[in-house]
Amino acid sequence: MKFNPLTQTHLENLEAMVAPDRFSTGESVLDLHAKDESRHPPCRPEAVIWPQSPSEVSAVLKYANINGIPVTGWGSGSSLEGNPIPIKKGIVLDFSEMNRILEIREEDFQADVEPGVVYQDLNEKLRHTGLFFPPDPGARSTLGGMIANNASGIRTIYYGSTKDYVLKLSVVLADGEMIELGTRASKTSSGYDLIRLFVGSEGTLGIVVGATVRLAGLPAEFSAAIANFPSVGTAGKAVFEIMRGGLNPAALELLGSECIELMNKEESLGLNVSPTLFMEFHGTTTSQLAEVLEIAEEICRAEGCSQFQPGLGRTERDRIFKARHALGDMIFRNHPDCHILVMDVAVPITAYSVLITEIRKELAGTDLVSYYLSHAGNGNVHLNIAGKKGDQKQWDLINKISQCLVSKCIELGGTATGEHGIGLGKRKYMAAEHGTSLQWMKRVKSLFDPNGILNPGKIFP
Ligand SMILES: Cc1cc2nc3c(=O)[nH]c(=O)nc-3n(C[C@H](O)[C@H](O)[C@H](O)COP(=O)(O)OP(=O)(O)OC[C@H]3O[C@@H](n4cnc5c(N)ncnc54)[C@H](O)[C@@H]3O)c2cc1C
Repeated sequence: MKFNPLTQTHLENLEAMVAPDRFSTGESVLDLHAKDESRHPPCRPEAVIWPQSPSEVSAVLKYANINGIPVTGWGSGSSLEGNPIPIKKGIVLDFSEMNRILEIREEDFQADVEPGVVYQDLNEKLRHTGLFFPPDPGARSTLGGMIANNASGIRTIYYGSTKDYVLKLSVVLADGEMIELGTRASKTSSGYDLIRLFVGSEGTLGIVVGATVRLAGLPAEFSAAIANFPSVGTAGKAVFEIMRGGLNPAALELLGSECIELMNKEESLGLNVSPTLFMEFHGTTTSQLAEVLEIAEEICRAEGCSQFQPGLGRTERDRIFKARHALGDMIFRNHPDCHILVMDVAVPITAYSVLITEIRKELAGTDLVSYYLSHAGNGNVHLNIAGKKGDQKQWDLINKISQCLVSKCIELGGTATGEHGIGLGKRKYMAAEHGTSLQWMKRVKSLFDPNGILNPGKIFP
């Protein structure tokens, strides 16, 4: 696909579509929109626009489509696979000025939002209603970015991911046409599910300018526990038994020994250094949750757990999960001279131990520092590998290991990405994972965006 650079006339025409203070070609602004949180190389757009309304988005897209100019949506740039990096330059639409919560309908469990709303701000606003928006990727992400990446987080096992919370979408298509998708009814079996097509499409099919999202009731009571295991295999069996036993965990996180060592060092946790499960339960009463914890302990002990630390109530849950939430930052902080490759794959739960064995095999004999942490209840594994900045030899090795492991996941019936999306980093696995259906994805893309102006260079190899 050949695109046209922004000429002086284009710049003037685009600036006239919005107020001058919402259009920029300034160096520092372009730099800020050149990279996300991944290690993919930056690429500057040619201009950044901060729209304030769907009609402004529509006008910009119509103009860009006629003139062959790429357009990439931008939430807060917290992606981990290069998803918003404008590798074909053109225009970046930054949604930070479309960040209004338009309406909260408590009794329908719904909220109407603009795409630039940060999900933590939505939850803050909802606090007094006893409701919340459950998907929680951790970073300060926008609803638009979460919808585009189908983001999820540590509580996906209980609450589901972003796709389970989108009821309606307002989307501007590549040629500027605005369409409305979905319904405010909480269930429907009407026609093709276009919502699910747009959720996870990484801004390659249309630009989201509004959404109606589903909300959930805040749990009345919380509990949590930490349990260590002699091996990943025994921890995996405990995960299966906890789920089969109907304990309905809200989070079930399995962390490798290296993570525990780091958390002990940073937070003085004093945990035994071995594969460890962090679990959380939500319920209506503390007595119900105390019972759940007793059963969970029985299950863990039966699998060889020697240290089970339970905690009842919100404060205890927060204490137990504080270190887990801080882990990502801890890893980055402890390797200031390194880039960190954050691998994100998912396999069927039964293939979990096979994958971890494979990870060990690949890393054996190397001097690489790595950490595995996983949303175990979903078979979603993150392997973080630290590689020295500028050490090409080391990075060649890391990339080779990552490639082998992702291919292994697909072979095991899994996916190249559990939650971070395809972006730039996972494009090469699309054919292996999707086979001939990749051709149908390409047809869908060309139906919605025949000139390929929307976030070009993403998803497809
Ligand atoms: C420390 C850390 C931890 C993380 N943990 C998780 C995790 O646990 N789970 C998880 O899922 N992710 C995680 N992420 C990744 C990231 O936070 C999510 O993918 C998030 O959804 C990105 O949102 P954003 O607002 O930053 O979007 P951006 O990164 O700005 O954009 C994401 C994608 O959305 C597109 N886009 C943005 N706005 C629109 C729009 N209005 N219309 C159409 N397309 C649009 C962009 O073009 C891009 O393709 C983590 C990131 C960090 C830095």
